[in-house]
Amino acid sequence: MIDLNIPIEKIGRVGPKFLARLKKLGIKSIRDLLWHIPTRYEDYSNLVEICDISEKGQSVSIAGQVSTIDLARSWRRRMTIVNAVIRDESGSIRAVWFNQPYILDTLRPGTLVSISGKISADKKGLYFSSPSYEKISAEEVGNQDKKINLTHTARLVPIYPETEGLTSKYLRFLIKPLVERAAGTPDPLPQYLLKKHNLPTLPQAIKMIHFPNELIEAEQARQRFAFEEILLFQIKMLRDHQQLRSLIAPQIFFDKESISNFVKNLPFDLTNDQRIATYEILQDLDKTFPMNRLLNGDVGSGKTVVALIAAFQSSLNDLQTVFMAPTEILANQHYETIKKMIFRNKKNNGRRIRIGLLTSSSAKQWPIDEVTEENITKKIMAQKIAHGEIDILIGTHAVISTKGAAPASGRGSASSGQNSISFAKLGLVVIDEQHRFGVAQRMALQKNSGSSSIPHLLSMTATPIPRTLALTIYGDLDVSLLKEKPKNRLPIQTRVVSQDKRKDAHKFIGEQVSQGRQVFVICPRIDVATVTENKTQKTSQAQIAWAEVKAVTEEYDKLSKLIFPDKRVAMLHGKLKPKEKDKIMRDFKNGHHDILVSTSVVEVGVDVPNATVMMIESAERFGLAQLHQFRGRVGRGTEQSYCFLFTSSESTPAGRRLKAMEKTNDGFKLAEEDLKIRGPGEFTGTKQSGLPDIAMSSISDIELIKKARLEAKLIIKEDPSLKKYPALSNRLDEIQKFVHFE
Ligand code: ADP
Ligand code: MG
Repeated sequence: MIDLNIPIEKIGRVGPKFLARLKKLGIKSIRDLLWHIPTRYEDYSNLVEICDISEKGQSVSIAGQVSTIDLARSWRRRMTIVNAVIRDESGSIRAVWFNQPYILDTLRPGTLVSISGKISADKKGLYFSSPSYEKISAEEVGNQDKKINLTHTARLVPIYPETEGLTSKYLRFLIKPLVERAAGTPDPLPQYLLKKHNLPTLPQAIKMIHFPNELIEAEQARQRFAFEEILLFQIKMLRDHQQLRSLIAPQIFFDKESISNFVKNLPFDLTNDQRIATYEILQDLDKTFPMNRLLNGDVGSGKTVVALIAAFQSSLNDLQTVFMAPTEILANQHYETIKKMIFRNKKNNGRRIRIGLLTSSSAKQWPIDEVTEENITKKIMAQKIAHGEIDILIGTHAVISTKGAAPASGRGSASSGQNSISFAKLGLVVIDEQHRFGVAQRMALQKNSGSSSIPHLLSMTATPIPRTLALTIYGDLDVSLLKEKPKNRLPIQTRVVSQDKRKDAHKFIGEQVSQGRQVFVICPRIDVATVTENKTQKTSQAQIAWAEVKAVTEEYDKLSKLIFPDKRVAMLHGKLKPKEKDKIMRDFKNGHHDILVSTSVVEVGVDVPNATVMMIESAERFGLAQLHQFRGRVGRGTEQSYCFLFTSSESTPAGRRLKAMEKTNDGFKLAEEDLKIRGPGEFTGTKQSGLPDIAMSSISDIELIKKARLEAKLIIKEDPSLKKYPALSNRLDEIQKFVHFE
């Protein structure tokens, strides 16, 4: 048995140079090494006698003896060539290696060797070209049993994620002996689960994933690891969920009459989904433990009003609400909307609801008297919040949460001092366009919430999340769904536009602008492959960002100079300062630009009711879910809206997929489709969830996820402190510790 947490420098075979390279791959401990999962396997399991090798292109293995070996230099081609002849009882064959002169010393004549590789042919006949090789013992020669325990040859050979100067061969050399030594490692999965789901034990799985006898073994091992990770993740979430229930939150009385009056005074009828979500939320608030709910609804499904009703209910209970948006412009938008809706409810049950806006550039409160608002300094705003003179505070994540977010160790220290916003009595936190709210951020707010209780939390997101994914990564959150759109909406018309139809589309767009409408243009997403010309060179996020700026600039030039020279065209990209971005967006919203050309970073959720055209260049480079997001930025007003997906590769699979956008406006359907095609990495929140890659790769396997979830529930129900499952409990502690250190 080995301790998996031993750092790799302790295993003896790793020199300083390799240590650095291993760390580059994120490998620090024996566990990391053993959990460095092969991306594929080279199939060298076809062990033959030399006389049976008959044609080039075959991938085969032989075992034999080196009969001759020599080194030649090709000065002209600046190359060394090692030429060897290998013999077994049936015959002999040549093996040739380029630029690996040291092989001359490794494979001296007489050495017993196993050779695997592809057969090539030249005028002298068949030979192995740069094959894999390893020395073997006398018993292993002539042994036709495929289960011979070799490392680099004559078997399914693992190929790992590599980095410069670190080959799969080296990784195998490190991993192989550890696989043997992992034999007695305690298994976090209890025996009964292994039996019930027919899963290999941990040591078996380690062996099977690195050195499988058959590919099916590797697959079984993969399933086991995925099952384990998902189970652990679910247990952790269930525990968090339970823990939350043991905490105290301010109970917010669900006053049905006031709510009903408030809803009656809204300028529209709530959709059924909005009613249900509102009801779920108000019921949660009326409990003594904190709510942790995700409101997931397509763009334009009307999440804001649902959150506002909850905020209104808190105000009537003399509790404050903070409403956080990712950008200043969205914060402004919410402030304006909320002002209007509160104003319509003038009486608000005899209670004046006081609203504040706080962003890095402004602080405002409303109402001063019946209608007016006033600009105040941020300092005064902070005082008002602390004295309970603001009921609903709207602002940006950055301004409100991070300044107060002292690290866990900074309890009581100066870091939670001057800049942070303290509340008199915070009851509810609403976070827009974010799936999760970090534990640290939540703690910081709680510290400043004016009481020892924990505020309720409502997060909202417009990214439709497929069900399996939601179950897996948001199992700890209660989720309310808004699937239905408000009735007054005209469905957006979507068209895939091929190269030869561009002119027509441009003409149509021009006409829309002439009628006073506005247009969004999204430029292609740039991926790593496009930027990196030299494969060994690492591509940074920054390089990609710059490549995108270039794409936007080109598109902007093209549209403003050639296609729409008489229209007002503006440009938006991620390299602009936040202030500049906000200004451009605001000007667009206020109708000062006709066409806005932007990278995909343009903020979600901004309401520009007059924009009726969304045009996307090289649409096939985006996932369907993201295209749907873009599309959601139009169709917010009363006019018919259009979405044009430009592509020059309609005949490729990616291009054909775009047709799905023409057929449905249902974000959840598209998200399911996307998950199948592109995997879970595309979805916001997935990466932040901390779920390991091996579990991610199984995320569309709904059966596996259901099984793991069910078992997690049973375990927690029967033995919440995991006394009966020490190995499982240890593993959870380790994960927890790791999360805290990050
Ligand atoms: P999102 O879910 O994308 O955040 P918003 O809350 O911004 O959507 O709502 C989009 C628009 O729809 C807003 O102008 C809002 O006033 C309006 N709206 C919300 N609910 C309804 C409804 N039930 N009927 C009609 N319009 C609605
Ligand atoms: Mg919104």
